[in-house]
Amino acid sequence: MTKSLFLRLTSAFVCICLMIPMLAGCSGNKAKTDTPSGEALDVRADEYAGLVDGYDPEVDDLDAERSASDEVSLAGTVLTLNGEEVTFSNSRLVQYTKISPNKNDTNGEVTHRTHKIDTITIHCMAGQLSVETCGNVFADKDAKASSNYGIGSDGRIGMYVEEKDRPWSSSNSENDNRAVTIEVASDSSDPYAVTDAAYKSLIKLVADICQRNEIKKLIWSADKYTRITHQKGANMTVHRDFANKSCPGDYLYSRMGDIAKKVNAILSQNAGTKTSTTKSEFPYMVKIKAKMTDVRKGAGTEYDIVTTVKKGEVYTIVEEQKVNSETWGKLKNGAGWINLKDTEKVN
Ligand SMILES: [Zn+2]
Repeated sequence: MTKSLFLRLTSAFVCICLMIPMLAGCSGNKAKTDTPSGEALDVRADEYAGLVDGYDPEVDDLDAERSASDEVSLAGTVLTLNGEEVTFSNSRLVQYTKISPNKNDTNGEVTHRTHKIDTITIHCMAGQLSVETCGNVFADKDAKASSNYGIGSDGRIGMYVEEKDRPWSSSNSENDNRAVTIEVASDSSDPYAVTDAAYKSLIKLVADICQRNEIKKLIWSADKYTRITHQKGANMTVHRDFANKSCPGDYLYSRMGDIAKKVNAILSQNAGTKTSTTKSEFPYMVKIKAKMTDVRKGAGTEYDIVTTVKKGEVYTIVEEQKVNSETWGKLKNGAGWINLKDTEKVN
């Protein structure tokens, strides 16, 4: 927080997009942002502006005691929405979790989103922030802002609001009720470019969200009206559709079609390859035949390694998933998933 107020106010940037709208041409130190219900609220523009330089040790140290990842169940939550049972889950790609109090209704009466997930809304942080710094900002009740996920400039993925809950991200509660929102670390000035690592993680995360929420194809429309009315299958919106701001920045905005294309390539690659084997085939036992093999958080090499298992050890498999023509097995002991090519079945 060493930048002078003058510098903070004269740099034309957007901080964590919701809280610090464009200050270009703004003469005061107040900026408009939106409450979850979409009503305008004044916030001090300089309050969070110091964060845009990236990792802020002052802020992170303040929160050191409670900065350990919150434990959040990855198992599905079933909610009944308009008479339909909808299963919500969270991404296994998450490496840091800090649940924000800013979600759902302000009065606490509605404790989850009320629409199934059918939209993706990508935002830019307007700062090359870490997932921890972003989490600290969203942990502040007064910030009145949050997102489901955040991606740091190093490509790490954070979760702040579980998918079953409505985040406060897009200045439009209707949009946030149906969208999974993602804040991506970006430069603090036009065109708000993001790192290659963050971009790659974004593609993986969006594909994962689509798969779990049965969004079969991601469709971007260059036309705002088509996007916000969800015509022609359009299921990507942007913050600038709902508020007078540059978010997600021209760098990401101009790449929305590319993001959809890359995500759809993953979706079609995985389509039909996920085996939903009948229960009667499980459980079965396997013996590790490789010298050593990794146990990962999810099925596939994009997931973090949680531990390793050694040759000769025997494990019980309770579920299978096919990923890129390789079959992964879920360990009964809950440790994670292993590539079954490194194993042999035992009776
Ligand atoms: Zn935004």
